Amino acid sequence: MKIRKINLEESEIPESWYNIIADMPNKPLPPLHPGTLQPIGPDALAPLFPEALIKQEVTTDKWVSIPDEVRNMYSIWRPTPLYRAYGLEKALDTPAKIYYKYEGVSPSGSHKPNTAIPQAYYNKQEGVKRITTETGAGQWGSALSFACQHFGIECDVYMVRLSYNDKPYRKMMMNTWGANVYASPSDRTQAGRNILAMDPNSPGSLGIAISEAIEMAATRDDTKYALGSVLNHVKLHQTIIGLEAIKQMEKAGDMPDIVIAPFGGGSNFAGLSFPFLRLNMDEGKSIRCIASEPASCPKLTRGVFRYDFGDTAGMTPLLPMYTLGHDFIPAPIHAGGLRYHGAGVIVSQLLKDNLIEARSHDNIEIFEAGVLFARTEGIIPAPEANHGIATAIAEAKKCKEEGTSKTILFNLCGHGNFDMKAYDDYFSGKIKQHELTQAEINESISKLTTPLIPQ
Ligand SMILES: *Cc1c(COP(=O)(O)O)cnc(C)c1O
Repeated sequence: MKIRKINLEESEIPESWYNIIADMPNKPLPPLHPGTLQPIGPDALAPLFPEALIKQEVTTDKWVSIPDEVRNMYSIWRPTPLYRAYGLEKALDTPAKIYYKYEGVSPSGSHKPNTAIPQAYYNKQEGVKRITTETGAGQWGSALSFACQHFGIECDVYMVRLSYNDKPYRKMMMNTWGANVYASPSDRTQAGRNILAMDPNSPGSLGIAISEAIEMAATRDDTKYALGSVLNHVKLHQTIIGLEAIKQMEKAGDMPDIVIAPFGGGSNFAGLSFPFLRLNMDEGKSIRCIASEPASCPKLTRGVFRYDFGDTAGMTPLLPMYTLGHDFIPAPIHAGGLRYHGAGVIVSQLLKDNLIEARSHDNIEIFEAGVLFARTEGIIPAPEANHGIATAIAEAKKCKEEGTSKTILFNLCGHGNFDMKAYDDYFSGKIKQHELTQAEINESISKLTTPLIPQ
């Protein structure tokens, strides 16, 4: 029998996360205060995040040890399996070897609990009673609800009203884990009331939900805020994925030539790829790492590298990143987790320095890829994950054309069992190819008045 699934023992769950900042040839530029345009220090984050996470946000230590209680919780679903995709290889008739790391086995169905658990843990350590957050598609809200429940912290999730109405089962998961879920805009915050006064039927947006969650955290002493992507400490926690994957590839007697992951704010891409990039920097390997993004929200492949706000409302510090402009509104594609206008600062600097690559795929191509994967490997992927699969298929086809055999590893960051509406829309022909014109991108970027970065 061929070995399909490469597992690790619980005792092999890594003991430290890997911090790529320690190894980067050019460190990320500092965040700036939007008023004074001066670099801001970590203390500016104190009203929103516990001290331990702020420290992790700026640390230059190469390894950060994982608390025992976090490793204990990880063991509910970690180590996650790594699979050889024999079925997909056969369907593509490719000489390439394709592997995938499967993060959909977590309780909430994606990689998000890898950071939700340590974030809840450090908040608990510092006596925080309540955590607020926003959620769009619902993956992050459910992961944080699960984590807060374990640590006895109250969890308030501001869920974009449109998703609140469209995705009742995601809301019910959060309620099952004990969280309070509010349709945003709500009448609980000034930000929400302002929007409702203008439009009582507002469908909400991620930007509005962020404003509500931040307002609640900033105005209450016992309450902090949590983010599920973009920030350095989130990427740090996600490196558990790649650290396990390296052990599993070694166990398989193989090593990838190409590592691929879908890209929203960068956390699951960072999680899988950073430990492999360490092998490039420390051991002289040349593993290509590719981020896969939607053609309708192409910040890495068609955005600009400059300072911009992290949120739509313009409340955060200015961050040096690839961006389409903070009020860029992508077409309403189904991969909700990839509709963010910018990219985290570490990934942006790595792309600027040509240490990673990026490519985009249109809406139809990613569903073709996802359906082929489901039919050959069994697991139905989250629409976000389909982007990574599309890149893996493109690389495997290139191997066939060139007659070369490469080893490809991609991140299957979540299952799509709560995303059947998206597949329904695809099968019934409602998903259209969407061409984003250069004029549309230029228009959004030309509105930016934030500082440029000297090239
Ligand atoms: C949140 C999410 C993403 C996008 O976020 P990243 O920070 O880029 O990883 C992608 N896939 C799934 C399944 C998600 O839940």
